[in-house]
Amino acid sequence: MASVIAASSFAGQAVRAAPRSAAARSARRTAVAPRAMLETQRMATSFDGFKFEPIRESQISRAMTARYMTDMHEHAEVDIVIVGAGSAGLAAAYELSKHPDVKVAIIEQGVAPGGGSWLGGQLFSAMCIRKPAHKFLDELQVPYEDEGSFVVVRHAALMTSTLLSKVLAAPNIKLFNATAAEDLVVKQDEKQGKYVAGAVTNWTLVSLNHDTQMCMDPNVIESKVMISSCGHDGPMGAAGVKRLMRLGMVEKVPGMGALDMNTAEDSVVDRTREVVPGMVICGMEVAELDGCPRMGPTFGAMYMSGLKAAQVALNSLRRQQEEEAAAEAGQEGKEMVAA
Ligand SMILES: Cc1cc2nc3c(=O)[nH]c(=O)nc-3n(C[C@H](O)[C@H](O)[C@H](O)COP(=O)(O)OP(=O)(O)OC[C@H]3O[C@@H](n4cnc5c(N)ncnc54)[C@H](O)[C@@H]3O)c2cc1C
Repeated sequence: MASVIAASSFAGQAVRAAPRSAAARSARRTAVAPRAMLETQRMATSFDGFKFEPIRESQISRAMTARYMTDMHEHAEVDIVIVGAGSAGLAAAYELSKHPDVKVAIIEQGVAPGGGSWLGGQLFSAMCIRKPAHKFLDELQVPYEDEGSFVVVRHAALMTSTLLSKVLAAPNIKLFNATAAEDLVVKQDEKQGKYVAGAVTNWTLVSLNHDTQMCMDPNVIESKVMISSCGHDGPMGAAGVKRLMRLGMVEKVPGMGALDMNTAEDSVVDRTREVVPGMVICGMEVAELDGCPRMGPTFGAMYMSGLKAAQVALNSLRRQQEEEAAAEAGQEGKEMVAA
């Protein structure tokens, strides 16, 4: 059968189609599009005559570096460091944003925070959350469809971007992304034995090149409490609990158990805790440490575990602050008696 070749003006591709077919008519419409586009471009918009303020390139460099270095300087010592900005870590950070007196740093090895919460199961869009965790969505004002015992957010990215925007806007929270926690700071005293006192950090691109370059020492963030929310086992995942095991501070990290939604989510929230002095674990890292079943693509436990981790961390922080205050008062009392 005879056919004609119609040119597609956009991609310059040849389109083979029968004469007077729907495809031929469509190709013809495509061919006239540029003229219509030119006319549209000539019509007035509010950007006619638009011009940016003048700039020197060095101003931009200084604006970025001064702020970043100030942030690093100010966050060399924090109250709470969160390692891992997935669903659990971000929920913990959100809860801590309600306590402006608590200084928080988040360390995230990826450029994009959010961990595994940009999609639902098997790369689908929808995010399922079992009740009563939907109350967290109400608080964040994220819309959902009610399915009875669970709710569905139409795109996981809607939930993650909303949560992220609230965390990033909080004045007491600083996110250091593209930064990996390479190790823990661990100290020891008579009262509590070994305890976690901070995160050993490095820019992730540096961490990834330790084998190919020399002299790449890390940096340190001292913390009163760490929330470890590093997610599943993997090259970086479950980094907090795996390091504790190598240090002999926990016995073993068996890895998550087989899938059982009903028991998995309750166990993760229940077992979210201060696992060693100074370190709280949450999210899938809990399942890795305790061998709890995995829950599959239902995210309520990640959010509830993160919120609980924040409360556990705050309790630990307040206890430490009270002990410090009592010790200081005791010292002052001794000095007064001596005087
Ligand atoms: C193989 C696989 C299986 C899964 N199975 C399940 C399942 O059974 N149940 C389920 O609910 N979900 C599952 N998921 C989906 C999803 O990962 C989790 O639900 C959810 O994202 C876990 O939340 P989280 O906050 O604990 O960890 P994540 O979302 O994984 O977030 C952890 C974050 O920590 C960061 N991080 C890790 N180590 C470091 C470090 N050393 N320094 C700095 N940052 C670090 C990571 O970059 C990441 O952003 C699975 C995902 C994968 C890939």
